[in-house]
Amino acid sequence: MRLVMASANPHKAVEIAAVLREAMADVEIVPRPPGLGDVAEDGETLEANALIKARFVCAAAGEPAIADDTGLEVDALGGVPGVHSARYAGPEQDAAANLAKLLTALQDMLPPQRRARFRTVVTVVFPDGRDVLADGAVEGCIAAAPRGDGGFGYDPVFVADEAPLRTFAELTSDEKNSISHRGRALRALAAKLQQLNPAANRG
Ligand code: IMP
Repeated sequence: MRLVMASANPHKAVEIAAVLREAMADVEIVPRPPGLGDVAEDGETLEANALIKARFVCAAAGEPAIADDTGLEVDALGGVPGVHSARYAGPEQDAAANLAKLLTALQDMLPPQRRARFRTVVTVVFPDGRDVLADGAVEGCIAAAPRGDGGFGYDPVFVADEAPLRTFAELTSDEKNSISHRGRALRALAAKLQQLNPAANRG
């Protein structure tokens, strides 16, 4: 199965390709066509935004497209930034500014009040209009200060319950993919795609 990547984010593209290749024998991941403009991610849910991105790239490429949308939900902030995670500190989508705003919002809060989760919805949209959707989440908390050089986005401040001594930015990519929201969503998606196309099964 050939899937066109809707995301132009190289970090995300690497994660998506690594997890899907592990889960599906016959998947070929094709980069987003160069020169494709941006589409407004103005949905009110992760699911809506993932579908907007995948439908846009599928229509432009004329081939099945894969897209994901992720939100960081912080309990003490009522689930914010959630679906607005990319633009939390403004339309520039500046990762450092997003981190700084989040740490400031939580600055007087102790660890029990810093509970959070990443949630991802991933979808494949086909040229005939069909779509397949899957989601995944990882529970954890927000660190007091950023740590680590790996990953991207909010990774330097997210500590998963399943890897409690390190932030996501301090994990190897395999470690992150094995427990992350995106890894889980992609493995669930691969299982659904294999039901559509049993030949893709690794057996
Ligand atoms: P989107 O899914 O590209 O819209 O991402 C929403 C926001 O979450 C952006 O600020 C991303 O940098 C951030 N983000 C998405 N996935 C991850 C991740 O795996 N780790 C940390 N931040 C992420």
